[in-house]
Amino acid sequence: MRAYEKNRNSMIRLGILCGVLCLAVVGLLVFRVLIWSENRQQTRLLVLVNDWNGVDSANFKVKLQKLQCGAEVDTHCASDLEQMLTDCRLAGCDPVVVCGYRDREEQKKLYEKEYSLYIEQGKTCDEATVLSSRKVARPGRSEHELGLSVDIVDGSYRELDQKQEETHTAKWLRENAERYGFVLRYPENSESVTGMVYQPWHYRYVGKMAAEQMKELGICLEEYVQMFFSEKAVIVHKK
Ligand SMILES: [Zn+2]
Repeated sequence: MRAYEKNRNSMIRLGILCGVLCLAVVGLLVFRVLIWSENRQQTRLLVLVNDWNGVDSANFKVKLQKLQCGAEVDTHCASDLEQMLTDCRLAGCDPVVVCGYRDREEQKKLYEKEYSLYIEQGKTCDEATVLSSRKVARPGRSEHELGLSVDIVDGSYRELDQKQEETHTAKWLRENAERYGFVLRYPENSESVTGMVYQPWHYRYVGKMAAEQMKELGICLEEYVQMFFSEKAVIVHKK
């Protein structure tokens, strides 16, 4: 009888041990899936697109969501963007989203318009290409095609030029955007790194942690990607 009980207790202990081990394995798997999912999400938000890193349309699928203002952006940044616009208005500003997602055809038209202006001014094709791509991204090389970028101006001044930086909206965004996961994508004096002229209206969603780190370190997306994901970054400093 005693031997039977001893055997039974051993079996129970073995069962408990197996149960604990199974739970540990399942827990570990769930943890790894969560980490993988988080990394995947982070990689998506930090995807680098510029004049020398085109949009990888085969692997980057945009899921669009309409904002209250009518513009469309990728679903991953929509709620943070709405919150940022709401808080900006509560601070007494008048933010207006003039562009969110843009498809390639629309980008092509914009680029060709800019290119034609330089040709009309007597520039050669090569010169026109270089000059226009500093202001308007070539088709397939625009962040707007990701749906993660927005152009925001002030209701009282809607021009996309340097004076936009003086508006209340631009000032508020410069101070607060990182709290909502957005960064000023083409800061002043960063053309040699970003390839684009200073655009005080163009904001890019990268997620709150990355945005706060970039703001704190005073670096742009190219430098951030190189710093933390060097194997994936292709940084070329333009002449
Ligand atoms: Zn833009």
